[in-house]
Amino acid sequence: MHGMMKKEEVILVINSGSSSIKFSLFVCHQELNLLYHGEIESIFETPSLTIFNASHVQIVKQNISPNGHEAGLRAFFNWFENLSDSVTLKAVGHRVVHGGMDFFQPTVVTDEVMKKIASLIPLAPLHQSHNLEAIKIIKTFYPKLLQVACFDTAFHRTQEKLATLFAIPRSLTDEGVIRYGFHGISYEYIASVITQQIGDIGNHRVIVAHLGNGASMCAMYQCKSVATSMGLTPLDGLMMGTRCGGIDPGVLLYLLQEKNYSAKQLEHLLYNESGLLGVSGISYDVRELLSSSDLKANEAIELFCYRAALEVGLCSVALNGFDALIFTGGIGENSAVIREKICERLTWLGIKINAEANKNNLVVISEKNCNIMVGVIPTNEEYMIAKHTWRFRDKMLIPH
Ligand code: ADP
Repeated sequence: MHGMMKKEEVILVINSGSSSIKFSLFVCHQELNLLYHGEIESIFETPSLTIFNASHVQIVKQNISPNGHEAGLRAFFNWFENLSDSVTLKAVGHRVVHGGMDFFQPTVVTDEVMKKIASLIPLAPLHQSHNLEAIKIIKTFYPKLLQVACFDTAFHRTQEKLATLFAIPRSLTDEGVIRYGFHGISYEYIASVITQQIGDIGNHRVIVAHLGNGASMCAMYQCKSVATSMGLTPLDGLMMGTRCGGIDPGVLLYLLQEKNYSAKQLEHLLYNESGLLGVSGISYDVRELLSSSDLKANEAIELFCYRAALEVGLCSVALNGFDALIFTGGIGENSAVIREKICERLTWLGIKINAEANKNNLVVISEKNCNIMVGVIPTNEEYMIAKHTWRFRDKMLIPH
């Protein structure tokens, strides 16, 4: 009887970072439905595997040894192999942070593609090598399994050239030192659901604020990226959890020349010690800072919101005004206080928040009679990656 059952086809989505690997399994019926999701945490400290079912009930929690991405993924696939009576893995979709000039759409991973991804490691040192690491490890486990890379830069490739230029010598621009922008998978997801969520206005001039540990903004017109706050690397633009965001480049020269920072120390300062953590000296986590009575915690929050409001101003110029402002990401989706503080600085534009709607994280949180709609739309990068990956499933000619 068992053997007669038709196996479900599933897609695995991997977001491999420096300290954790997040994963989601989707099954395809009419639509892609989440089956399981989880995380391999603290990969280089005390690794553990946690798996939740579709109702977010924890079904696995185990320690893993030794440390590292490989042991973590091995533990996951050991668990996954137990499902092999009922499911077939069709493909793995990966979040890859940087696609450089070459990648402007989801791409099937080949040796050539892996080389190109590797060549972009210097542009996203915090992410790219870990993204690639998972691809390589899974390739050693299942050499013939279809793997698809989805790039966080790809959504922004629709921008006009002017929006991508730095004011630096032409020769550097020509070799690819331009603004790429990130969080593209998140923005693409928002673009794919926005009219369904807020109506036709979603097709007009929209500013999306993705506020999580990483934070950026995207100016969209007709659901396409016109401008974005991050640049060559995910450091530019908004203040973030531990990243500085836009900074006077003179500060970097000062640190290098007067304070004798090495390039590595500087990188660590800008990526890991700055942002909310650096300014507060307490935490990168907005929840913790909001519940603190420390003045520096408060200042960190105020600066975060001030900088976000300034960026709305920049995006609005790129769009010649705007019709809707959408919040997403861990902070954008959950923190009514942060949304309120940002919007308070935009009242002069006619933005007016409905306190009750805002408190309840409703889709529309602005007052009805406003000329600019403000909304909250939860992002779903995993789903977006699964959807892209699913489109390639027939490319898998040889069963693995
Ligand atoms: P990442 O950018 O790593 O994907 P998320 O988008 O999950 O991160 O955002 C994580 C951040 O969201 C946390 O650091 C925390 O500051 C913030 N956050 C999550 N839930 C809340 C909440 N209820 N209130 C305020 N901030 C929250």
